[in-house]
Amino acid sequence: MTYTREFRNPDVAKHLLERIADTVRDHAGSMTFMEVCGTHTMAIYQHGIRSLLPEKIRLISGPGCPVCVTPVDYVDHAVALARRPGTVIATFGDMVRVPGSTSSLVNEQAAGADVRIVYSPLDAVALAAKHPDRSVVFLGVGFETTAPTIAGSVIEAQRRGLDNYFVLCAHKTIPGPMAILADDPGLQVDGYLCPAHVSAIIGAEAYEPLARDHKVPSVVTGFEPLDMLQGVEMLARQVVAGEAKVEIQYSRVVKAGGNPKAREVLYRVFEPCDARWRGIGVIPGSGLGLRPEYAAFDAATRLPVEVEEPREHQGCACGEILKGKVTPRQCPLFRTACTPENPVGACMVSSEGTCAAEYKYGT
Ligand code: SF4
Repeated sequence: MTYTREFRNPDVAKHLLERIADTVRDHAGSMTFMEVCGTHTMAIYQHGIRSLLPEKIRLISGPGCPVCVTPVDYVDHAVALARRPGTVIATFGDMVRVPGSTSSLVNEQAAGADVRIVYSPLDAVALAAKHPDRSVVFLGVGFETTAPTIAGSVIEAQRRGLDNYFVLCAHKTIPGPMAILADDPGLQVDGYLCPAHVSAIIGAEAYEPLARDHKVPSVVTGFEPLDMLQGVEMLARQVVAGEAKVEIQYSRVVKAGGNPKAREVLYRVFEPCDARWRGIGVIPGSGLGLRPEYAAFDAATRLPVEVEEPREHQGCACGEILKGKVTPRQCPLFRTACTPENPVGACMVSSEGTCAAEYKYGT
C-alpha cells in the first residue's frame, strides 16, 4: 500500500503539474498525446488527469483495449462455435458481453451454450483434460501481454497430448496501428504514452520506428498518477525541443529490450499475420496466428462453422473512438441506448473501454 501511495503523492503531483505548465508556457500551439493502453485510459479518467493539465495539452485515447479492437466478425465466429454441439467456449470475462452482429456469448449461454469464464488459458487446458469428449475453444484475444501465456497453454496442451484444446486467434501487436495513426492527418498525434505491460514484453526499442520514420515522440509510462504526469511532462519536453525519441518513464519495470524469454515462447507458437482491427481495418503483419507446427490447435480451421455476415450496430461510434477521432459523449447512443448494463458497442463493455471509463468516471 505504501508503495502505491508514493506514486499518488499530491505534493509531488502538484510539483509535476507546475513543471508541465512551465514547459509548455512559451510553446506556440497545442499538443495532442495519445495513450494506447486501456489501463492508461482508465487511470486518466479515474484520476481526472485531463482536467489537471494545461489547456495546451490534449489527451486522447487510442486502440489500447484488446476487447474493443476485436472486430464484430470475430465475435460472430465465437458465437457460431458456441452453437456447435459438444463445444465449450472458455474466455476472459469481458468478451462474453461484447455484442456480435445478432447475438453475444452471454445470449448463447442463456440459450444453453457452454460458455465459461476462466482466469488463465491454463484453466481452459484443464477443462479440455477434464472433458476429453468435448472441444474446448479458448478465445485468444489480447496484445503482446497475454499472447505469451496463451502460447504457453498451447505448449502445455501439446505436452499433455490433448487433441481437444483449440485457440480462436485474434491476438494483435500494438506498434502497427500506432504507425498508422501517427500518419493520419486528421489526428496529428504529437506523442504517444506507450503501454506499460505490452512494453515490458516487446521493450521500448519496438517504438524506435515511430520516432525515426514517423517523427513522433514516445514515452513508455506507468499507470499511477505520478507516472502519467511524468510521462506527459517527458513528451511535452520533447515536443518543445523539437525532438522525437523513445524514452522510458516506467523504468522500474520496462527495459529497452523487453522480455526476450516471453517473446521466445510467444514466437515459438505464433507468427505474424495480417489482422483486422475494429475501426481501423486490416493492418498487415499486426496479428499473431498459430505457426504451421501448431495448426492442430487452430479453432478456425479445425472446427469449421457457418459464420453470419458481419453487421456493425447502427450509430455506434466505437471505430472512431478507437482512432481517437471522437469522444464517448459525441456518440449519440452514449448513456441513452448504450450503458454498461445494455452495451451497444465493445467500448462500453470492456473494463478498459473508453466509453466505460467515461461512463464510470466522466463528469
Ligand atoms: S457509447 Fe456505446 S454505442 Fe457509442 S461508441 Fe461507445 S460503445 Fe459504441
